[in-house]
Amino acid sequence: MERIQFLKMFASIPLISSEMKLKAFESISNGFSNSKKTPLIFIGHGHPMNALLDNNFTQTLTKLGESLEKPNAIMIVSAHWQTKGTFVSTNQTPKAIYDFGGMDVLRQIKYEPKGHPEFARQVIETAPIYNIQKDHSMGLDHGAWTVLKHLYPKADIPVFELSIDSSQPTSYHFKLANALKKMREKGVLIIGSGNIVHNLKILDWNNIDAKPMDWAVEFDELVKAKLNNLDFQALVNYQQFGKLSEMAHPTNEHYLPMLYILGLADKNENVKYIFEGFQYGSASMRCFQIS
Ligand code: ZN
Repeated sequence: MERIQFLKMFASIPLISSEMKLKAFESISNGFSNSKKTPLIFIGHGHPMNALLDNNFTQTLTKLGESLEKPNAIMIVSAHWQTKGTFVSTNQTPKAIYDFGGMDVLRQIKYEPKGHPEFARQVIETAPIYNIQKDHSMGLDHGAWTVLKHLYPKADIPVFELSIDSSQPTSYHFKLANALKKMREKGVLIIGSGNIVHNLKILDWNNIDAKPMDWAVEFDELVKAKLNNLDFQALVNYQQFGKLSEMAHPTNEHYLPMLYILGLADKNENVKYIFEGFQYGSASMRCFQIS
């Protein structure tokens, strides 16, 4: 129904209380029902070239975007925006950033949704003790746009990013996310974009479909088992897995986005796997939803 028709019809119903009218009006205005909360999504983004590829992974993202209720905005926590201190992007018109060497073909791709400075401001207010700062110029790094291009190809949903303070321990990221739960009730879809296994030194660069390496499968399965048991604390303390965790994450910027997704979850929610698999022999492309 067109919005104008809806409003006309609505005004003509005398028996509905003004409070009910207001609630329904807010709901249709926002596009996302206020009585619900958005699902949480973790995406293993892999190589930037996925932006152009038509494969099982990218097709799954497109289907996911079609199946989710349209959010009011998207907040992305990406491995590729690391800062000292935590920042949120208040850019009105964030543009794709080509934050990689070469791959000129990817530089032809434009992904230019609107930003959402108001929701970004609300993120700051929701977690005051974390002293989150505004960044007016941040665009969309490739951990964000190469994924969004498949999820929401029309770029018709406002997007903003939350940075990762790389000077902080894993527990900080989990707790900060905990403090942001209210954003889900505002219809903000929160996406973590990283990789559950990410070691650029041990990749089979010549073969995207290479057989996955044993240690990579072992770490990926370990994370899956902890997710199945909702044992998020074990995943915050992932360094306890010793040598295996060092191989999976020589640096942990691709692991941390997952901790934001876990920190935003409530106890009564469940994990559903959207995609499982590897690229280049060791990059876990596992994606999951919590709702
Ligand atoms: Zn990456």
